[in-house]
Amino acid sequence: MASRIIPVDPFDLVVFGGTGDLARRKILPALFRRYCAGQMQDGTRIIGAARAEYDTEGYRAFVHDELVEFAGPAAQDTDQVAGFLDILDYVAIDADGELGWSELSQMLSEERVRAFYFSVGPELFGGLAERLHRHGMAHGESRIVVEKPFGHDQATARRLNETLAEHFEEVQIYRIDHYLGKETVQNLMAIRFGNMLFEPLWNSQYVDHIQITVAETVGVAGRGEYYDNAGAMRDMVQNHLMQLLCLIAMEPPSKFDPDALRDEKLKVIRALDPAGQDDIVLGQYRADATRPGYHEDVGDPDSTTESFAALRLQISNWRWAGTPIYVRTGKRLRARKSEIAVVFKETPHSIFGPEAGRHRNILTIRLQPNEGIDLDMTIKEPGPGGMRLVDVPLDMTFAKALGPDAEDVPDAYERLIMDVIRGNQTLFMRDDEVEAAWAWIDPAIVECNKRGQPPLPYDAGSSGPEEALALMHRDGRRWREIKP
Ligand code: NAD
Repeated sequence: MASRIIPVDPFDLVVFGGTGDLARRKILPALFRRYCAGQMQDGTRIIGAARAEYDTEGYRAFVHDELVEFAGPAAQDTDQVAGFLDILDYVAIDADGELGWSELSQMLSEERVRAFYFSVGPELFGGLAERLHRHGMAHGESRIVVEKPFGHDQATARRLNETLAEHFEEVQIYRIDHYLGKETVQNLMAIRFGNMLFEPLWNSQYVDHIQITVAETVGVAGRGEYYDNAGAMRDMVQNHLMQLLCLIAMEPPSKFDPDALRDEKLKVIRALDPAGQDDIVLGQYRADATRPGYHEDVGDPDSTTESFAALRLQISNWRWAGTPIYVRTGKRLRARKSEIAVVFKETPHSIFGPEAGRHRNILTIRLQPNEGIDLDMTIKEPGPGGMRLVDVPLDMTFAKALGPDAEDVPDAYERLIMDVIRGNQTLFMRDDEVEAAWAWIDPAIVECNKRGQPPLPYDAGSSGPEEALALMHRDGRRWREIKP
């Protein structure tokens, strides 16, 4: 099974913030890998634009070192690295002022796709859009890519949408959520809508509950200032977890088309019941013997920002009434693990008698590590001794099932950036979707604040506060283990 690479016409891509952390670790390595895959044609140009005073050669030397550090084994191919560096340019620019804008506009070619990646702080997004417009760079084939955070609440997200809309059409605005670029997330849609097997069972009659976990082992050091102003609810739940929830719970769109899909996602968000105080547990990690606690990481002993959130959600529609969805995310937990588990109901009656136990199927979509899908099935335990039942996973780890092709799977940023160039918005968030997600999160945060309590402390390397376990226990259910 050979992978099919479809080259795209030559384009110009400007990376604002082209010297920043995200550009170094993700965007530039992603572009380099697409270059190596043969997806960029001669004439394509990538222009870094940031505050530092590099000339083109200086920027190429900078990117060279970053590729060696972050682009994996592909960066050992010196010919490919040299070829990629050749398509790079740089302009020192002030996103807030006038420096560099006329140089940038002269560097761009007419009559081709041009994309502007806003990999800078969110306070600069509006100014960038305005200057691109004013300097005549926002033509019909221009697109902007906007990083998270998209607003701090509904009001700020709406204002940002309005500002961007003054200078760009909605079809030109790509709000990125890199979770949507993950291979398994798209596979979730393939599994649901490409097979007959699951869709008839995909409702509250057969599904007991759904769990979504995004657990990290890292703390917030290095991003402390940003994180302390956001917290897990704004940094993770409002965007990544909400997007996963939408894809798992939405009705089948009539086609795999940006607006058909986003209309269905929006309906899910709008059908969410408001969260009450009892539906949310917030936590904050403690120090352990070797690692600082949250307070030390953000440099504020009084911070009440949560580094962990667990929520019980209910979608009020015909498909999901009565099937709760539990989501949780946190820093400094026991393992790095992101997964969605669809837990089906037990069989209504066991013909094998009480000693065989009651069993249920679980469909697990693993986002990381080890991307793949498991379906827990109940079978007979091998050997004599009667009808003993055991649950075993039907494992479809992509690396195993697809062989070497699975290793060529582009990472989320590679796929999403090329989607921008191709003009495909399917995996990007629309303005109304983002605002609706905030409209749900804002009152949930207000509910938490009404409790007047700081987040519950939890041990580094644990699964979060005990109370998060109780959130499920009181419904007679259990979280799946967060284990390495
Ligand atoms: P960073 O601070 O490392 O880099 C910021 C970049 O912006 C630098 O290149 C800097 O030169 C440039 N810059 C700052 N002020 C400027 C100005 N006035 N004019 C021109 N350029 C200016 O930030 P980062 O971590 O790379 O984050 C960039 C964006 O991506 C932010 O919106 C962040 O929230 C988002 N993001 C980052 C990550 C991550 O892992 N770093 C993850 C998700 C989203």
